[in-house]
Amino acid sequence: MIQDIPLRYIKGVGPRKEKAFNELGMFNMKDLVYYFPFRYEDRRLFKKIKDLKIDEFVLVKGIVRTVNLKKMPYFAQSRKVKSIFEIVLEDETGNIKCNWFNQGYLFEIIKPGLEVIIYGKSSIFNKGLQMTSPDYALSNNAKSLHAGKIVGVYRLSSEFSQKFIRKTILSALEVFHKDCLDPLPFNIRKKRNMPNIVKSLEDIHLPLTWKDAEKARERFIFEELFFSQILVYLRKAKHLQQKGIVLNIDKKEINRIEKKLVFELTSFQKEVLSQILSDLSRSYPMHRLLQGDVGCGKTVVAAFALGICAKNGCQAALMVPTEVLAHQHKESLQNILCGAGGLTKNSVRVITSSISKKDVQLIYKDLEEGKIKIIIGTHSLIQNNIKFKNLGLVVIDEQHKFGVAQRALLYKKGKIYPHCLVMSATPIPRSLALSLYGDLDISVIKESPKGRIPAKTMWLKDKQREWVYNFVEGMLNKGRQVYIIYPVIEENQDEELKSLKLMYGEISKRFLSFSVGMFHGKMKGQEKIKTIEKFKEKKIDVLVSTTVVEVGVDIENATTMIVENPERFGLAQLHQLRGRIQRSTYQPYFILISKDNLSDHSLSRLEIISKTCDGFIIAEEDLKLRGPGDFFGKMQHGLPDLRIANPLRDLELLKEARIIAYKTIKEDPKLLKIQNKDIKLYVDAYFKGNWVKS
Ligand code: ADP
Ligand code: MG
Repeated sequence: MIQDIPLRYIKGVGPRKEKAFNELGMFNMKDLVYYFPFRYEDRRLFKKIKDLKIDEFVLVKGIVRTVNLKKMPYFAQSRKVKSIFEIVLEDETGNIKCNWFNQGYLFEIIKPGLEVIIYGKSSIFNKGLQMTSPDYALSNNAKSLHAGKIVGVYRLSSEFSQKFIRKTILSALEVFHKDCLDPLPFNIRKKRNMPNIVKSLEDIHLPLTWKDAEKARERFIFEELFFSQILVYLRKAKHLQQKGIVLNIDKKEINRIEKKLVFELTSFQKEVLSQILSDLSRSYPMHRLLQGDVGCGKTVVAAFALGICAKNGCQAALMVPTEVLAHQHKESLQNILCGAGGLTKNSVRVITSSISKKDVQLIYKDLEEGKIKIIIGTHSLIQNNIKFKNLGLVVIDEQHKFGVAQRALLYKKGKIYPHCLVMSATPIPRSLALSLYGDLDISVIKESPKGRIPAKTMWLKDKQREWVYNFVEGMLNKGRQVYIIYPVIEENQDEELKSLKLMYGEISKRFLSFSVGMFHGKMKGQEKIKTIEKFKEKKIDVLVSTTVVEVGVDIENATTMIVENPERFGLAQLHQLRGRIQRSTYQPYFILISKDNLSDHSLSRLEIISKTCDGFIIAEEDLKLRGPGDFFGKMQHGLPDLRIANPLRDLELLKEARIIAYKTIKEDPKLLKIQNKDIKLYVDAYFKGNWVKS
């Protein structure tokens, strides 16, 4: 198809340019014509030379008065400048000097007496006005791409000039338009009154009016969102056709587990639990996302599902991002699920990379024979050697730490597609969640258990360090424990960051009468687990750590946390860290010690984290700061990159796109109808068949 034509067949593109295009992610005709300007310049309004201000981009029309091509004499040629072409341009109000470096050929084009349009930034040189390397066009050239119209500006690497890309896209469009397919079917375009592909491409690159540009952009935003939603619903349609394992929900078992808890479930937990239980008893697999802020009690809800699965004689797997978390979950699950009437301790096990070879072999065997009912593990769970007898349920904790592909590997270990529950502590606005995770059902725990006290957050500077240490001493004397978090384990000469190893010594000296422990990701698995156990048993008072404690570590008595160089951490990460100390009824304190000169971005992050403890607000602000592309990352949802759409900004369009995509797939799940032919073609071609796999 025409859209697949490689770029080297386009006029003006040689092997070097093609390579540079490839580096920008463009490989074929379609990639190029879909490379949209990120902004426009209105080059229709001329300024008089007398009105020019310094450092302003302006368009000027005038008559060329003088031209001069200076060739640098050989001895004066610096490596870069070999010639300078200078002109004086005059209008009825004044004149301006323009110059171009190493473009001697201009001498043949820009001649005295011609009327010329230039666009560029004016400056002052030798008391006169000057413009260096402006874009130019002869004013009798009505077809100029660079002046006299609204002109697109593209994000480019240094290999390309704006002029070159404009010209190349125009050549590509001339070919492309002869035989291109409109991915959006006529009926959908008509419904929303959107221009067709030919007009839209013209208008997005070379708009005649602002309105044309706007309509074209809207169409492409819609197109992008529409196809992301088509994918989501294709996935969902496929999922609904899976045959699942119908689990029997034993009321007595639910009651038994409930009695084992030392607290009562909150009303949100109860509601979510009933949604999950009803999923488990259906004839197709559960596929549910459970969202809830750090510490709201997601694990316990998952525990019921795991228990019910085991009661039905099926196996369940819980995947977590860290070893410590795996062990912690094992302990709490054993507490809740084992004992009289429940599972034995031996049927709830952990697998991680630091378990001995011999034990691992045993786990493989017990899993395959079905002796293990619940397995908790890190990435080790998705190794090839892991085989289940009858996997019935998969739970993914902290789902943002895993990619779609990794999660899928675990699901595939079931002989029948297992029930799936993915849990996330990054609550995102519902409309957005529906769109990105539209193939999942969504549950939200909106409130944390009663009695939790939000941390008091203090944002301090290095000179207040002694005050902080005194504060810590006070807390330790009251019997509380403290975390101190560092951005790096060891010093790095390039950066002035506090390192854990260096500070461990300082902290040990400062708090002589207390026990100080060290914890980081490079420690051996067993060592890590022992350290956390010691912290739990209060044999360690101050834990000096990296962010490995970020997820899951659950120690109620540790209620103060200091974070060094917090400007180095993301919002979500800071919020997760703070979650570690909001687990009891003591007042928690979260203390940030930042360096002095912070970037605007860092300032905003630290301001947000100091202002609120509400995970929903923090997630929303984070999204705004980073933009959805960076916030989600392709890995997590497996949808194509959004290039022009921004689901946050384009929420209304997204809703429309979602509804139309939903209807399309509902009426024609395999896209076989004649009116959906173009959608199918587009989806097949664009994703080269990959979309069916995920
Ligand atoms: P997260 O949602 O971050 O995974 P957890 O499930 O780890 O949260 O729960 C955090 C802490 O709150 C745990 O210590 C858990 O035992 C406790 N917890 C959970 N539910 C309740 C509840 N309804 N009442 C009191 N404490 C609870
Ligand atoms: Mg959790």
